[in-house]
Amino acid sequence: MRLKNKIALITGSSRGIGKAAALLFAKEGAKVIVNYFSSEKEAFAIVDEIKKIGSEAIAIKCDISKENEVIEMVNHATEIFGGIDILVNNAGIVYDVPLFERNVEQWRRTLDVNLLGNFLCSKYASEQMLKKTGGKIINISSTNAINSFSPDAIDYDASKAGVITLTKDFAKELAPKIQVNAIAPGWVDTDMNKDLSKEFVEDETRKIYLKRFALPEEIAKAILFFASDDASYITGSILVVDGGHD
Ligand code: NAD
Repeated sequence: MRLKNKIALITGSSRGIGKAAALLFAKEGAKVIVNYFSSEKEAFAIVDEIKKIGSEAIAIKCDISKENEVIEMVNHATEIFGGIDILVNNAGIVYDVPLFERNVEQWRRTLDVNLLGNFLCSKYASEQMLKKTGGKIINISSTNAINSFSPDAIDYDASKAGVITLTKDFAKELAPKIQVNAIAPGWVDTDMNKDLSKEFVEDETRKIYLKRFALPEEIAKAILFFASDDASYITGSILVVDGGHD
């Protein structure tokens, strides 16, 4: 088991990549804090699934863009499990809206969740990690941070580029006790992409060398790599997991 008795907080883990990471971490021996925003039923179902695997888990509701809620979540998790060893900044949102129809409210919400939320969770969880022996932070950026797949997600792309710089700044600030790395997934088969048109999906699939979107479980394996001792000499790095893409 690669995460035996480690305590892992995974934001937005009631579905998609976060859920896959929560289940994989539990199989590797971690105690998991399943953070959710609105999907209470799904979050508690994952807690039950983790208990069946033989590990421990709790679900905590928190909007990661709200500082007071993040402080409460981190304090609550620390009280229950005695600390946090691993933080996966997974929660994220995207609004696909034509560039000239994008409004300020959407722009702000995207940046608040994807970038400010990441900062707040990293800040408060790392304070707890530093009180103990240290820890690991894994951020979920996107290949959208590096390439444009559609200008309809302009604020999402900017937020994910911000996640890369945030990864590097936190890696420098928190070294050597805490390692901070990011995954940049390409297309992943999750609910986030359920409203994309069939034509767009087919067109994008053609451009992927492996000719398919990733499964959330395949991204979870890359997250596990950074969370485990296998990545003991890596910090401030960005791992692209996109099946190869032009
Ligand atoms: P998803 O929509 O299935 O999951 C996102 C999760 O974040 C949901 O559980 C949602 O409730 C949660 N969330 C949203 N706002 C929140 C908030 N304010 N506070 C707490 N939780 C909140 O999408 P996914 O594909 O599993 O995405 C996970 C991460 O991976 C996201 O950061 C996303 O940007 C990134 N990503 C996804 C893809 C893809 O193609 N699906 C590609 C690259 C990167």
